[in-house]
Amino acid sequence: MEPLNAIKGVLFDLDGVLYIGGKPVEGAMDAVDRIRNAGLPCRFVTNTSTLSLASLQAKLGSLGFAVETEEIISATQAARLYLMRQGDPVCRFLLAEDVMQDFADFRQSDTDAEFIVIGDIGDAWSYRLLNEVFNCLMRGAKLIAIHKNRYWQTEHGLQMDIGAFITGLEYASGAQTTLMGKPSADFFAMALISMSVAACDAVLIGDDIDADIGGAQQAGLHGVLVQTGKYRQAYCDASTIHPDRVIPSIREFPDLLGL
Ligand SMILES: [Mg+2]
Repeated sequence: MEPLNAIKGVLFDLDGVLYIGGKPVEGAMDAVDRIRNAGLPCRFVTNTSTLSLASLQAKLGSLGFAVETEEIISATQAARLYLMRQGDPVCRFLLAEDVMQDFADFRQSDTDAEFIVIGDIGDAWSYRLLNEVFNCLMRGAKLIAIHKNRYWQTEHGLQMDIGAFITGLEYASGAQTTLMGKPSADFFAMALISMSVAACDAVLIGDDIDADIGGAQQAGLHGVLVQTGKYRQAYCDASTIHPDRVIPSIREFPDLLGL
């Protein structure tokens, strides 16, 4: 396979690339080390919205990846920065408990929110909750989605993600969603700016052909798809998105970069 030459910065998707569930992907640590030792700046980009920045760093550390918080670009972090630019808004957060600590400074209301922020709340979804959010949207609240993923891979198989709930709320209310995580171009721009690397000199490695590869390519980066995590061959064969390279796993990534 033709190597990707002259890459100056690397974005790693986390789940499905570095680890699956609670286990590191074989060879992932060595691959990250080789890339770091070559002097390439790295960012760890994730749509995961169940963990605060501190917890994400701790999780990566426990799996053997030593990462600074400044190197982690999470979709919830992007949402926090976005809301801070909106003055002092009243918000309703549908977010995992651990992430809520990153949003404790904001004013909150279940009924009079100006912004509704939706992330992962596991099986807390119900018709009643969807209807409450729907009514807020009908009163003019703005909808912010941490991501709009279709599904993700767990140790127990594929699980339906929040994308379908967001789409359902948009359909019912006519609201337009502001998307925070991948594939939003703003999200990739934030990562590139923090590394001072131009999009055309950067590569993302991910397991999600839509949010990772499609988003990266749309933002001008190279996109390398791994066949671990949520990768499904039939889904990718039918996709209109064409990754720059497809490799079995992150283990082959340093070779691909000519390192
Ligand atoms: Mg992933």
